[in-house]
Amino acid sequence: MKEFDYIIIGGGCAGLSLAYELETHDKLKNKSLAIIEPRDEYKRDKTWSFWKVFPHNFEDCVKKSWNNFTINSPNETKYIECKRTPYQTIDSELFYNKILSKLKLNKNITFFKNINEVNKSNSIIFNSVAKYEDQKNKLWQHFYGVEIETDKEFFDDEIFNLMDFACDQRNKVHFFYTLPFTKNKALVETTWISELDNESLKDYDQQIDNYLSNHLNIRNCKINYKEEGAIPLFRQKSIKKLNEINIGSAGGMTRLSTGYTFLNIQEQSKYIRENIDNINKVKLFQINKKYDFLDNIFLKVLKKNSSQMGNIFYKMFDSSPSSIINFLSNKSSLFEDLEIISKMPKTIFIKQLF
Ligand SMILES: Cc1cc2nc3c(=O)[nH]c(=O)nc-3n(C[C@H](O)[C@H](O)[C@H](O)COP(=O)(O)OP(=O)(O)OC[C@H]3O[C@@H](n4cnc5c(N)ncnc54)[C@H](O)[C@@H]3O)c2cc1C
Repeated sequence: MKEFDYIIIGGGCAGLSLAYELETHDKLKNKSLAIIEPRDEYKRDKTWSFWKVFPHNFEDCVKKSWNNFTINSPNETKYIECKRTPYQTIDSELFYNKILSKLKLNKNITFFKNINEVNKSNSIIFNSVAKYEDQKNKLWQHFYGVEIETDKEFFDDEIFNLMDFACDQRNKVHFFYTLPFTKNKALVETTWISELDNESLKDYDQQIDNYLSNHLNIRNCKINYKEEGAIPLFRQKSIKKLNEINIGSAGGMTRLSTGYTFLNIQEQSKYIRENIDNINKVKLFQINKKYDFLDNIFLKVLKKNSSQMGNIFYKMFDSSPSSIINFLSNKSSLFEDLEIISKMPKTIFIKQLF
């Protein structure tokens, strides 16, 4: 079996982002890389969105960018501007194609379907395949989205809706998320935060149908694309292994309160590339610990007070737009953290500290 200098397990968002970062910085000229990925074909399967708080490698894969968004509680709507840090959406198909066409030019990079096909004893391994052992009572953000096309112009494509809580909550946290790509095309997602222990929350098609017809008043539309996912809002147990580093969601790159992961993966890839020659000696790249601390308190509040979460999320956006965007993108200053904390209902949050 062939040996490689580096092995990336999982050629998804994190695995490919890292391979691209290494390749485009000439780190694979004299080094060999195996990418282990079981899928037979790459196609559009995810829509990655984020506020662009720093430049990234995938500007040419951005399907749409917005400078404004709304958030809805059951009775009110808040309008928020984000011109300085536009909200961008990346189409995973464009992302996969861009990276794969670059990687295939380098003969030092080989794809395999299974880790048993390579000798891994002397390689540095970057592993993006998570193993979640104890999942009991853990929260997930799970969602289902459809890209619809209406026959008439319907959407204002200058503004997207981040969260609409004007929907059935079923004792969990539930909201809709709408990204209008054009005036007649939008991705509409039903999103839940729950322990994933209740299959009845997964009548997703019904939820979307109700939302489209009763809330948005859309009766006729065609569905062009569907996506479904579940993002763990907890960390996998980290087991330190010599020569193996976890990356992506498996490597703790997900923000626990929101599920945002894409830009954290880009930062992690850059950090690994900058330190690749010394990677076993430098400390692991992590999301600042203060966010895990604050997010865990937030999730405890969420578990116990699901019916109030619509209003709590809504209140959070009373902060200045830059503070809330920086906070949700792990770029906030202490002053901005305090501004956001000050908008939270004190009693229920303090209770969760003890
Ligand atoms: C539908 C969806 C939408 C999302 N939207 C957003 C968003 O808008 N913004 C955001 O910031 N985050 C979003 N996320 C969260 C996060 O950005 C993604 O989950 C992202 O794909 C995580 O990258 P990853 O490399 O860790 O995992 P993945 O991209 O899932 O990659 C893991 C790879 O490992 C492969 N694999 C599986 N088993 C094995 C095995 N045994 N051996 C080898 N390979 C294996 C899989 O085929 C896959 O290609 C979304 C997640 C989902 C599921």
